[in-house]
Amino acid sequence: MKQSKLDNSTRITIGVSSCLLGENVRFDGGHKKNQYLLNTLTEYFHFHAFCPEVSIGLGIPREPIRLVEQNDEIKCVGTKDETLDVTHRLEQVADEQVSWQESISGYILKKDSPSCGMERVKVYKGVMPERNGIGIYARKLMENFPNLPVEEEGRLNDLILRENFIQRVFVYARWQQLMSQNYSIKDIQQFHAQHKYIYMSHNQTAVKELGGLLANPFESLVTLAQEYITKAMKLLKSRATKASHTNTLQHIQGYLKKYIDADDKQELVEAITEYSNGFVPLIVPITLLRHHFRKYPNEYITQSFYMRPHPSELMLLNNI
Ligand code: SF4
Repeated sequence: MKQSKLDNSTRITIGVSSCLLGENVRFDGGHKKNQYLLNTLTEYFHFHAFCPEVSIGLGIPREPIRLVEQNDEIKCVGTKDETLDVTHRLEQVADEQVSWQESISGYILKKDSPSCGMERVKVYKGVMPERNGIGIYARKLMENFPNLPVEEEGRLNDLILRENFIQRVFVYARWQQLMSQNYSIKDIQQFHAQHKYIYMSHNQTAVKELGGLLANPFESLVTLAQEYITKAMKLLKSRATKASHTNTLQHIQGYLKKYIDADDKQELVEAITEYSNGFVPLIVPITLLRHHFRKYPNEYITQSFYMRPHPSELMLLNNI
């Protein structure tokens, strides 16, 4: 079934560095508008914009800040006036945002920023900076919400990382929805069944461990749920490869073996092989599988999100 653009009530909320939405909040009074966010993702997500530097009262325009290593500690200080140390204020402002951050399903951060950068931010020690820092606000955000899907706008230009991030956001949003209800172990097992093939396309060994976790006796359902989602979100961070998608497609194809004739089977095998060899994108074998499952529905496949991980109009499966 074709998914349509989402209305306001069903849109997933994600946090975004304000400057990426065109807000003039940067140190120089400018912005870093990101067209993909504003032209495409805005149709499917509700954005919660936040600028940590403005929130701590640094003003616009302002003296730029940067990360420096001092006495084995990373500090965020003024580029001209190193006595302007805003490290603690940035950490504090991150902690103060927890009430809205706990309901979001993802976060897109501005790369290279000493406040918002997710990775490889310049850290100055002596003359030459090293690109091994994390923005102070971003670090606190990720410590407070280790399972939250977080990505930088620059990395979203990589089509595999883009699909990976948006897939994680949708999985996490469905998990948050489940956790907001009165859930049982059966509900978590059903969530696992719905996402098993997505997990498999990332890591076949880890998906077995994850399933095993839910099959064993447990003392606390809340602890089990936390352990499950921590492992699941970690698993989903690893890149899905052509080999693991091919294996997943072959597993799914197995459900059709009693129903489709030799010609259709051959066509399916060829589509999966062409995908595996890089001649066609993932959407090609998936479209063929969807066609066969429309004719021969299977309950387990119908509930699975693997072939419909996010809205079709985002065309994310067309590019990987
Ligand atoms: S990168 Fe972060 S701190 Fe800097 S202007 Fe953008 S939102 Fe504000």
